[in-house]
Amino acid sequence: MRSVLARTKGFMPDDEGEALYRSACTALAQHRSLPIIEIGSYCGKSTVWLGAAASELGGTVVTIDHHRGSEETQPGWEHHDPEVVDRRVNLMDTLPFLRTTLYDAGLEEVVIPIIGRSPVVAQLWRTPASLVFIDGGHGDEHAAADFEGWAHHVVSGGLLAIHDVFENPEDGGRPPYERIYLPAVESGEFELHDAVGSLRVLRRR
Ligand code: SAH
Ligand code: MG
Repeated sequence: MRSVLARTKGFMPDDEGEALYRSACTALAQHRSLPIIEIGSYCGKSTVWLGAAASELGGTVVTIDHHRGSEETQPGWEHHDPEVVDRRVNLMDTLPFLRTTLYDAGLEEVVIPIIGRSPVVAQLWRTPASLVFIDGGHGDEHAAADFEGWAHHVVSGGLLAIHDVFENPEDGGRPPYERIYLPAVESGEFELHDAVGSLRVLRRR
């Protein structure tokens, strides 16, 4: 798994990935039959951590992405990678990279990728989740929609993990903090379970 992680493109530092893995184990130990849901697969770097937990404990991960990239990964932006552009249509396409990652990590039986827009899938979703990990679009609108669409799917006692949460504006963008983390805590329904780097994990009461 480590060698797969090392060659997988993405935005999940090892210490935060390990924390995500631990939270996934905790969530599955209590709710093994309920899926882990990830918003924002990209090339699978965070999916592998979630999948490792599901593989060990006998759970399932559903990972959702339209695979066309976020604002900040488009051409001209800081996090753009020209290797993930489909030259035929001149759009990003990270799905082939995700498939390679899942195959190489031996997780094809454990992880179910969904190709689509997060709010559209959220509208159709009916199964409570043991853990929801939100790491999709980081603009105000996308972050707010992910909170609206997904936080209520976390089962009571389950976990809501949020990536790129920066309390201090100097450290990074605001929407995951202001549109997901704060509303979750202020709703009174979630309490802090773990914090590593920019990862925050909340437990639903
Ligand atoms: N979790 C990944 C990084 C995800 S980057 C890692 O750790 O490496 C964010 C991803 O969210 C991008 O792949 C982008 O395509 C996806 N995304 C952004 N907005 C989305 C939306 N509204 N619906 C589905 N996917 C979205
Ligand atoms: Mg992230």
